[in-house]
Amino acid sequence: MYVRGVGPRVAELLKLRGIEIAEDLLYHLPFRYEDRRNPVPLDEIKPGEPVSVIGEVRGSTLLRTRKMPIFELTLGQGRHAIKCVWFHGSYLVNRFHAGQTVAVFGRVEASRSAANLKMIQPQYEILPDASDDELARMLEVGRITPVYESLGSSQASPKSGAQFGAKLSTKWMRKAAWHLLEDLRGRVDETLPAKLLARLDLPSRELAFNGTHFPADGTDVKALQKFATPAQRRLIFEELFYLELGLELKRRRLKKQPGVAFETNDALREALKEVLPFKPTAAQKRAFGEIVADMRQSHPMRRLLQGDVGSGKTIVAFEAMLVAVENGYQAALMAPTEILATQHYLAARKLLERSSKNYRIVLLTGSLDEDRKRHTRALINRGEAQIIIGTHALIEEKVEFDKLGLIVVDEQHRFGVLQRFKLMKKPNVAEPDMLVMTATPIPRTLALSLYGDLDLSVLDELPPGRMPIKTSHVFDDEAGKVWEFVRSEVKKGRQAYIVYPVIEGSSTDQPELDFSHDEEKETSAETTAPKRAATKAKKKLVDENLFGETPKNSTTRTALKSAVDMYEHLSNGPLAGLRVALLHGRLDADRKEIIMRRFQRGELDVLVATTVIEVGVDVPNATVMVVEHADRFGMAQLHQLRGRVGRGTAESSCILMTGRKITEQAELRLEAMVRTQDGFELAELDLEMRGPGEFFGTRQAGLPDFRVANLLRDRKLLEIAKIEAENFATKPEEGISEQERVRVWDRLKKAWQRKYGLVEAG
Ligand code: ADP
Ligand code: MG
Repeated sequence: MYVRGVGPRVAELLKLRGIEIAEDLLYHLPFRYEDRRNPVPLDEIKPGEPVSVIGEVRGSTLLRTRKMPIFELTLGQGRHAIKCVWFHGSYLVNRFHAGQTVAVFGRVEASRSAANLKMIQPQYEILPDASDDELARMLEVGRITPVYESLGSSQASPKSGAQFGAKLSTKWMRKAAWHLLEDLRGRVDETLPAKLLARLDLPSRELAFNGTHFPADGTDVKALQKFATPAQRRLIFEELFYLELGLELKRRRLKKQPGVAFETNDALREALKEVLPFKPTAAQKRAFGEIVADMRQSHPMRRLLQGDVGSGKTIVAFEAMLVAVENGYQAALMAPTEILATQHYLAARKLLERSSKNYRIVLLTGSLDEDRKRHTRALINRGEAQIIIGTHALIEEKVEFDKLGLIVVDEQHRFGVLQRFKLMKKPNVAEPDMLVMTATPIPRTLALSLYGDLDLSVLDELPPGRMPIKTSHVFDDEAGKVWEFVRSEVKKGRQAYIVYPVIEGSSTDQPELDFSHDEEKETSAETTAPKRAATKAKKKLVDENLFGETPKNSTTRTALKSAVDMYEHLSNGPLAGLRVALLHGRLDADRKEIIMRRFQRGELDVLVATTVIEVGVDVPNATVMVVEHADRFGMAQLHQLRGRVGRGTAESSCILMTGRKITEQAELRLEAMVRTQDGFELAELDLEMRGPGEFFGTRQAGLPDFRVANLLRDRKLLEIAKIEAENFATKPEEGISEQERVRVWDRLKKAWQRKYGLVEAG
């Protein structure tokens, strides 16, 4: 449909932002609101809290300090005034002139007297005056005003970017949304049954959009900011309801498909026992029991095995694989990195050597040479390989399995992967079972709702004899002591990891920084939205850390130390005489394998590495983990890295190094790391600080980026949505018309196809 204010060129730009139809624009919701009904009098402002202040421009200056230009703007309100300060503010010169009314939003600095109120780097908006059009005045002053993320694109060419950047500002968006809602009055499609809405006390979709973009005067502003008004909750609920409904359908469809009903008998139990290298923990026994119970069913297993780092997921997976193999099927294990795949391969071989049987195990990764790959593919295809371990190459190298019975996906949550595996089995073979392993400590209720189509097993217990890992935060200028400590541990026969955020130079355009854990680049053929998002995130790193934070009061960036440089430095300097090796994602597969093997065998003392060692690597004799630039890593990542030590019975240490100047958020993260080793606690904290999208890596999970919902904030609604979706799918409810039901199913098809692509329509 035609939207006022959107011509072909604007439409083009909106498309870049994923806004293609009018509905998308409606879903570009305000991210906060300013209460401009009754502007806060300056003398009533409490320092420290974010507030929106409206004042008249009294004057401005650009101060040229030695470090940087600082722009100061003075806003007045009767006898009172407030000073607003922007660092590097040259771009603001000539933007303001006396008499303008300006709204600023930010925190007021605590100061001794109300006479010199000050706001640092506030967001600002010049308010319309009498010369502006009436609509602008109506939308921007004297009301609760929505504030939008600008749609002005920094990705477009610089020329058009500048032009549209201004055009698709929050002001533009207000008008566009206003016009759109006006044009759609009485015509916004309802997507949920009236009875459901009434039961949950939620408004119609049209009212919800109106109330979210342009809240009525009486709306509770605090609730608005928390996205907790009925209008907002209605939009959130809708999104979650359709997510859960899709997951529910998926699960139902799966339960109807024929799968392999594996058999268990004494011979199998003997075979399993034969290879088990230690007494399993109670949690491992329970999880394995649940997995085997699933595998015996005649419909396909879809199970998530969740356990904190070091809880012993691998052996559980290997045993499940043996169940498949002993039943005459193939079992495949896919790991996110070559290093990990190689390690699993070596571990599986070592484990199965204990067996009297001669299991045939193969490794398939992207960087093997063509001949070897071809040979391995043939073994798999002819059914001569029973246990197949690999990376993404398993699905990219066009492998066709002979009789695939079980797929294990380690340390990753990409649903798309599961889908593609299905295509690789021979047509007449039943649907394979699937086990996904993750160390992401998703709170249980959230996991159940989020992975609606997976059953959950949890390893909530560590193997016996583990000692807590001593974690400390150390400054760069104390590095000497750190290297001394590494030397002393090596002297005791222990090994150490030293991790850097980049491979080489200080450029951030390096795979290890990619949060997707996909350093093998094996998915580079995909140019999907997630990739683009990752690229964007990577670009951002150039001036900031991973979280877009710039250290307070810091104007210069510290150069990044890299694995390659520090390997040179350490092995020739502070760690000279020790057996030091370098490991990163750009080494070829053989090299990586050799180094990992040598480290595992204790032939190396120190591994200087990037985050390629983040997941899964298991060398129990390693007791020291040093992470440089630790402020650049997320908590989930640090927790994973730390999980590389403390895997034996010796006392281990994790040393997190940073410069003296780090952001407040980084300080909080590091403090939390030092304080606790509990993955769930860290996950909760991380969720609070960053939002669930980042932590779960929803993009990698193949799960949608939500338009409205936020899994942490909206956990309760998610639970309700799950229950309602189950009900809806189970039985036609009295009071919900056939027409309404059909509408829901139609909408589901469209929504899942367009936004999520998770489920085949039907
Ligand atoms: P993760 O869950 O992080 O993948 P792993 O499967 O790599 O953990 O196991 C961590 C370490 O603990 C490995 O060295 C493994 O051999 C050991 N381990 C696992 N289960 C037990 C157990 N029941 N008793 C003793 N050691 C165990
Ligand atoms: Mg593991």
